[in-house]
Amino acid sequence: MNPLGIFGGTFDPIHYGHLRTAFELLQAVPLAEVRFVPAGNPPHRAAPRCHARDRLAMVQAAVADQPGFTVDARELARDGPSYTVITLRELRAEDPARSLCLIVGMDAFLGLPTWHEWRAILDLAHLVVAHRPGWTAPRQGLLADLLAERGTMRAEDLGSSPAGRILVHAVTPLEISSTDLRDLIVAGRDPRYLVPDAVRALIVESGCYHDPAQR
Ligand code: ATP
Repeated sequence: MNPLGIFGGTFDPIHYGHLRTAFELLQAVPLAEVRFVPAGNPPHRAAPRCHARDRLAMVQAAVADQPGFTVDARELARDGPSYTVITLRELRAEDPARSLCLIVGMDAFLGLPTWHEWRAILDLAHLVVAHRPGWTAPRQGLLADLLAERGTMRAEDLGSSPAGRILVHAVTPLEISSTDLRDLIVAGRDPRYLVPDAVRALIVESGCYHDPAQR
């Protein structure tokens, strides 16, 4: 069985940068599935602008027509900070031998040492680090050493063990961020072609990014 991809994020809102990255990795690694896991209370940032219920609805709408894309709402149901390590422990307990691949953008990878129990994450899953415009792989320091020790250029290596390797993978560079999207919507502009139409419709319906006071 091909590895299970796990794509965590605030998804406030989900956009084509997330979706194209997940799609290219689904095909290239290849992954059996990419499971989108919206964070309830992301520990390293301000509270999400949009209610968890609405962020979940947007992720569900965004992935609905892509075979292999699924949504896992467990972090939204959990109290306390949404630590990735907890989710990975649960997934590992569900299938002790399965290859798990945690997908992160390069910006998120650079922050890895600040994550709760970050070293345990690599005991539980591989990391697939997607290129992201504006961010480059570390050349020195802790993460460069980690890449030298655990990095691989061969996606096949992710299928032959359950956890512990790091694959840095190029994806089509799309300079889209949720922050820019929120600013654009507050400014009264249209997010069309940056997010799927179904997500755009939910943004309009909920109005959750439209209040400048909450920017
Ligand atoms: P924000 O601007 O609110 O920080 P974001 O656009 O970075 O949001 P998140 O939900 O925080 O989106 O990101 C979830 C994951 O997706 C992270 O690992 C992030 O690095 C990755 N990611 C987000 N946007 C892109 C993109 N355009 N290209 C590649 N990876 C991305």
